[in-house]
Amino acid sequence: MKRASSGTLLLTGCAQVATCTGPPSSDAGDPAGIREGVAVLVRDGRVAEIEPAAHLLVRYPDAETFDCAGGVLTPGLVDSHTHAVFGRFRADEYPLRARGVSYMEIARQGGGIHASVRDLRNRSEDELVELALPRLRTMLSLGTTTLEVKSGYGLTLEDELKTLRAIRRLAALQEVRLVPTFLGAHEIPIDHRERRDRYVALLEEEMIPAVAEEGLASFCDVFMEPGVFTAAEAERILTAGLRYGMRPKLHADELQESGGAALAARLGAASADHLGAISAAGIEALASSRTVATLLPTTLFFLGKKSYAPARRLLDAGATVAIATDFNPGSSPNPSLPFAMTAACSQMGMTPAEALRAATLAGAAALELTDGTGTMAPGAPADLVLWDVASVNEIPYRMATPITRAVWRAGQRIT
Ligand SMILES: [Zn+2]
Repeated sequence: MKRASSGTLLLTGCAQVATCTGPPSSDAGDPAGIREGVAVLVRDGRVAEIEPAAHLLVRYPDAETFDCAGGVLTPGLVDSHTHAVFGRFRADEYPLRARGVSYMEIARQGGGIHASVRDLRNRSEDELVELALPRLRTMLSLGTTTLEVKSGYGLTLEDELKTLRAIRRLAALQEVRLVPTFLGAHEIPIDHRERRDRYVALLEEEMIPAVAEEGLASFCDVFMEPGVFTAAEAERILTAGLRYGMRPKLHADELQESGGAALAARLGAASADHLGAISAAGIEALASSRTVATLLPTTLFFLGKKSYAPARRLLDAGATVAIATDFNPGSSPNPSLPFAMTAACSQMGMTPAEALRAATLAGAAALELTDGTGTMAPGAPADLVLWDVASVNEIPYRMATPITRAVWRAGQRIT
């Protein structure tokens, strides 16, 4: 490696450089935007130029060079849907679930999301930071440089604020880039079961204003599903969030179609997430809006479901499709976005190039990041991953194998 004082870094010797700026569907071209025979010049923490190495070496003879030795260079992955701040994993439920005991029965025995709520309420902000940090580092080592994190295991004003403050402290460490989402509407707390309208009013009148007051969340999200929040409640909560400057997101049509995708599109939500049971009308609504369809295939995999969200129909209709992990302590304890890409290819019929674009550019779109995050274009943040493979196809193909060789954040090498 040649060091120089110019502050420029030249990444050479890549088998492929994926810009991730191609069309959404492989039918229309190459979604990964692969370029071969080029090097990448990084300056001031941003991608500056993508040109043949010989040209760049002539113009930047003082640049520090890094030999990618035949690997694949992509933008850092963008995981646009996680619940990464929580207490313990609920592995004690897994033997029961594996044998087919229903989620309802597990909840009746004191498990499920309410177990995570009880657990988080008993922990301090410091403890939440300490528990989450190694998880974020694992995600980083697997290629994720930007991720969204939702609150939603507190479900009281105090416990939701505690979670979001923990997320803010983790963000300040600047290891991964974090985007915070307020998900006080993750579930109706047990003590509000008889008067759910009171909890919706608490969200609208106290929790959302308090979260906004401290500037703790960019997005407001609701778990809309039969048995959780209704369409009317979701609309009230997301509209209150909008009044306080939080952009809407929606957990929609996960297990049962209930008009979630259409509602997300109508409210101009950044994304509608899950969509395992989306209707033809829902696909149409997303395709004719800017709302991103965020698919979470490892959740359905881990829950043992046999059918997945209709990724191909969404792509064919013209919707923007993102892939995320849904990393959480119950239904998707999966921190690996590359593994979610594998599930997208093997279970939903996406091509590896489509899955890569869905885990980069489209993830950034689901977080409304407009600074080039998720792409490798001049001006984009130099959040980059060097993969120890010879082609983009191998990233999802090398299922569950750690294959990152180096990760950079804003031009600084961090792993
Ligand atoms: Zn979720």
